Amino acid sequence: MTDPKTWLRKNPQVRTIRVAAADLNGQPRGKRVPARFAHKVVEDGTRFPFSALNLDIWGEDIDDSPLVFESGDRDGVLRPTDRGFVPMPWLEGPTALLPIWMYHENGKPYEGDPRHALALVLKRYKALGLTPVVALELEFFLIDDSGKTLQVPVSPRSGKRRKAAEVLSIRALDQFDTFFTDLYDACEEMDIPADTAISEAGLGQFEINLMHQDDALRAADDAWLFKMLVKGLARRHGFAASFMAKPYEDYAGSGMHMHFSVLDSDGRNIFDDGGPRGTDVLRHAIAGCLSAMHDSTLVFAPHLNSYDRLIPENHAPCGICWAYENRTSAIRVPSGSPAARRIEHRVAGGDVNPYLLVAAILGAALTGIEDAQEPPEPISGNAYAQDLPRIPADWGAAMDAFEQSAIMPRILPEDLIRNLLLTKRQELYYMSELSPTEQVEIYLDTV
Ligand code: GLU
Ligand code: MG
Ligand code: MG
Repeated sequence: MTDPKTWLRKNPQVRTIRVAAADLNGQPRGKRVPARFAHKVVEDGTRFPFSALNLDIWGEDIDDSPLVFESGDRDGVLRPTDRGFVPMPWLEGPTALLPIWMYHENGKPYEGDPRHALALVLKRYKALGLTPVVALELEFFLIDDSGKTLQVPVSPRSGKRRKAAEVLSIRALDQFDTFFTDLYDACEEMDIPADTAISEAGLGQFEINLMHQDDALRAADDAWLFKMLVKGLARRHGFAASFMAKPYEDYAGSGMHMHFSVLDSDGRNIFDDGGPRGTDVLRHAIAGCLSAMHDSTLVFAPHLNSYDRLIPENHAPCGICWAYENRTSAIRVPSGSPAARRIEHRVAGGDVNPYLLVAAILGAALTGIEDAQEPPEPISGNAYAQDLPRIPADWGAAMDAFEQSAIMPRILPEDLIRNLLLTKRQELYYMSELSPTEQVEIYLDTV
């Protein structure tokens, strides 16, 4: 990273910058700053209310949050992260984004900031001499302005309805060749390590995998920036993109899978013993993820619509289970070279906040490792056909589970737990007053 002050000096053509932090829903919140005053933000940070990181999906204050009126809606201090400036190639430009995160006046991190919540989990790994290695996989739909998927669902000649774009179809990918070329160029400019792209099962649905890296904060930053990029670049190409979990009943939803392993202080993968099944520690980490899964569903499926994705036969999980090389299972241990032995956590939708996703999974795995928990037997075959413990079936049940949980306080800070519950309860209240069409409109655009 170039030091932000040097960066400003070296890029005099930049007239304006953005500073932004991720709110609880992963929405970027911040300001536009003229470049000639940007050095002030770099040196002293900027300020806006604590409550701005806890807005609901409409961008409204949470009615009964102690952050808003009881406290007089006080300001927090937002300082640049160590990412420095990131180009924003989807804007007319030249311009750049300076990611920021929130602190209290006394210099302490604000624990209601999702990025700080993740940093706290990582601190606990570090204290044990451990380093998680994380890779995220992002699925999304390319859509038109009316919200329809961009690939035509009805064959023009036969009039027959098409249900799939043929998974891994090169033809479907190449239909958007200029978009993907620009997207990969932009990822290089922004230093986002985009690996392969594929066409997914739904018409107009695609998946891009980001390379694994041993800096989990950076992996979450990359996913957050990538979502901004894909949505912005799609607009520049005259269409739109959505990470909504389940936009179309006919097609599988969009997930955000997380792969991870853990290195010891010698850089050795502690899930790998050279064999095909992995170590005891791998099993403890899986057990931790499974025992927290029910209570942390609100993080993985944060919106009303997220629960439409978690249904049988769509490659998304419903049962709490694990398995070797099995995509019907919530946790999959992929086969392949033992050195890359890892966990694929498949519960989250594309609408997840990447910081909370990584924090919740790594935090859960760590509780399993600390307590040397033992998981149940891995399943084999079709998980949808088996009688398994279930994740909460709807949003309200997920909120109750999250609220009553004895495990969540071991994983996420108190401030964050309280604020997420307040935010989600307010969204539930307002959402239930909207028609399904109005709900889809809001989610398609925002998440
Ligand atoms: N689209 C599926 C989901 O909703 C995942 C498909 C896959 O295995 O990549 O999670
Ligand atoms: Mg996929
Ligand atoms: Mg996957």
